[in-house]
Amino acid sequence: MTSTPPPSDTRSWWAAVAAVVGLFLPVSCLGCAAPDHALCPRCRADLAARPGRVRLVAGARLDAAFEYEGLVRTLLLELKLRGRVDVATPLGRPTAALVRQALAAAPPGTRVLRVPPSPRGRRRRGFDPVVLLLGRGGVRGTGRLRRVRGRRAVGAGGQKERTALERVDATVGTLRAVGVQGRDVVLVDDVVTTGVTMAEAVRAVRAAGGRVVRCVATASVES
Ligand SMILES: [Zn+2]
Repeated sequence: MTSTPPPSDTRSWWAAVAAVVGLFLPVSCLGCAAPDHALCPRCRADLAARPGRVRLVAGARLDAAFEYEGLVRTLLLELKLRGRVDVATPLGRPTAALVRQALAAAPPGTRVLRVPPSPRGRRRRGFDPVVLLLGRGGVRGTGRLRRVRGRRAVGAGGQKERTALERVDATVGTLRAVGVQGRDVVLVDDVVTTGVTMAEAVRAVRAAGGRVVRCVATASVES
């Protein structure tokens, strides 16, 4: 390719090229490699038949649409790390359904608050996966917890390299809830593994005078 696009249009020009090239590249199912679908009908049905998970986080009930393993883990990583928004719907619909269920059981006026993505994740992706997931299931207009500036988790390693106590210590005080005094709250995140981040979200709501009536996640590990 020899032609050079004007600098201001470079990004959109490449996006257009990528869109055209994408029409001719083979797509295969992330579950079984069957051709022509990002997720084939069989894998979609398999996903829809999977049972959800229920666990406790900081004394609050967490409903997860899926266990975080296998195909679910693959799809979430593709979505979050590679921006594969084409796999968001089969994950997002059951997540949004859990939020609606939680709201139906909660007092009127209950707020839905999202756990914010890490600053690094947001910079890298340019979108909030939880907003996307909930939107695919028709849940919009949710609020978000704030990140407390200057209270960043310390240490170079990820959560997995730290001891449980270090993880808790590095996370406490990183989130803040606003406008929840005397109100009921449903908290939402995409993935819950150790539960440390969701526990911090619960703490932040309680510290601000709110009551967590349910936590919802797209996927959770067995606890
Ligand atoms: Zn498949």
